[in-house]
Amino acid sequence: MKLIKKNLSNKYPSKDITQDDKKNKLTISTSTKKIVVKISKDIVFGSNNIPLIAGPNGVENEKLMVVVAKNLIKNKLKIIRGHAYKPLTFPYRSNKYKDSKNIGMDIMDKIKRDFGLKVVTEVTEIRYIDRIFKTADILQIGSRNMQNLELLREVALTKKPIILKRHFGSSLRDLLGAAEHILVEGNNNLILCERGVSLPHTHRATSRFALDIQAIPALKEICNYPIISDPSHASFWAPWVPSLTLASVAAGSDGLIIEMHPNPKKSAVDPLQPLNFKQFSGLLKNTQKVAKAVNRKII
Ligand code: PEP
Ligand code: MN
Repeated sequence: MKLIKKNLSNKYPSKDITQDDKKNKLTISTSTKKIVVKISKDIVFGSNNIPLIAGPNGVENEKLMVVVAKNLIKNKLKIIRGHAYKPLTFPYRSNKYKDSKNIGMDIMDKIKRDFGLKVVTEVTEIRYIDRIFKTADILQIGSRNMQNLELLREVALTKKPIILKRHFGSSLRDLLGAAEHILVEGNNNLILCERGVSLPHTHRATSRFALDIQAIPALKEICNYPIISDPSHASFWAPWVPSLTLASVAAGSDGLIIEMHPNPKKSAVDPLQPLNFKQFSGLLKNTQKVAKAVNRKII
């Protein structure tokens, strides 16, 4: 593989995208046709349909995942999320929380078998790829690992669809650089995800980030890959998630990640963030209306 590019010097070095970046023919910014990422016959990112990925933060236990899966089926949704390998901001864990790791992946296998849902889960380390590969339909690179470039390269080699989350402090230029590491391994099943950035003011003491809605049209201007939005991890506050979801769809988001839990207070981590089932159904109903207004459909 030839990785030397001529003329990669940037005349106006900047944290943001420049015209030079485009001229330098990065793979990410030079594909002229729209890239669609196909998960199955009826699930495609980057089309008129907007796949909504929902589920709890972690695969806590089988009972939880079964209840969530039933709710997704009831709402005619197709993709479940839940992490079995989890980075936490602090190394200390509550008594409730344990990484379910391989047990969690076995639970996700059962969910796939019993409910026919597709599975999104996070890959935190190269050593977990083999196990996760067997179960997941989409591999998520979390924001903290956005520039763990060796991990990106190894995950890319699986050729599975990848959701690459933007780090909360990174420019779009850094995100595109990270994405380029995936493309350079020959995997263009790439979905970019905006999930909130650090700002001096996020309007609530418990809101750690703010959704950068502007990133959606800005990314669309530069590249043709599907861009999805995760309002849950951005706002960290369930009551704001429905509005931010509507705004994301209106802004052109090609997919959504929503954290939900049958009993958010009991969520092992981040209990302020997931929607309960009633809130989730309300969100879906209203989001479907906005999607319709822009000629799209939530699936
Ligand atoms: C998550 O999806 O549960 C998660 C931790 O995401 P992020 O990497 O965006 O914080
Ligand atoms: Mn989470």
